[in-house]
Formats: sequence, structure tokens, C-alpha cells
Amino acid sequence: MLYTPKELSEEIGINLDQVYRVYIPAGCPHSKDHRGRISINGKEFKTWYEENYKKRKLEKNQAYCVSCKQAVAIVNPERIKDGKNSYLISYCPHCGKKVTRFNDCKRKKNDQ
Ligand SMILES: [Zn+2]
Repeated sequence: MLYTPKELSEEIGINLDQVYRVYIPAGCPHSKDHRGRISINGKEFKTWYEENYKKRKLEKNQAYCVSCKQAVAIVNPERIKDGKNSYLISYCPHCGKKVTRFNDCKRKKNDQ
């Protein structure tokens, strides 16, 4: 399915500006028609997004601070258990905002 940037932003719940200012300059797959209108393939976008955002590699002792836009060290984390998920809450050493790190519980141990 092809989306306009506006439809895409509504679909994934982000600000339309984010598509133009962040995703497209960052290399989001899109095509332009002869009038310069942008359309984005939903499937291609999802693949691209997952590779660029969700799989952001963090060291074991790091969490991602959305304010500083970088990985920051986890200091004195609080461990929270929520059903099958567990996560760590810490505070960014740079800006003091709360950062959360989810633990990888889904990885199977017998995948060899
Ligand atoms: Zn921060």
C-alpha cells in the first residue's frame, strides 16, 4: 500500500513534520510523482524503520535518551517486572530525564 506522508504520519502516530524533516532526509524509501508529490510504500517503510530505529544497538549498560538523542549509561537502575516483560528505569546522566531499557526476554535459549 502506498501512503502519502500525511497518511503515513497518521498511521504510525507521529507528527507530519517528522516524515519530512527526519525520515526522508535519513533515507526513508519513497518515490515522487511528476508533480513532486511523495508517496511511501508502507512495507518498505516498515522494513527501513525497523532496521534504523528498532534495532538500534545498545551496550548492556546503556539506554537510549530521547532528549539527548544518544545512548547513555544506566546508573543505579530500578528493575520493573510487568508480566513477561522486565525493564530497567534509570535517569540520564546528562539531562536527568527518565530513560527506560527493555530487556530481551523473547530470545530463545534453544535456537541452536
Ligand atoms: Zn538525556
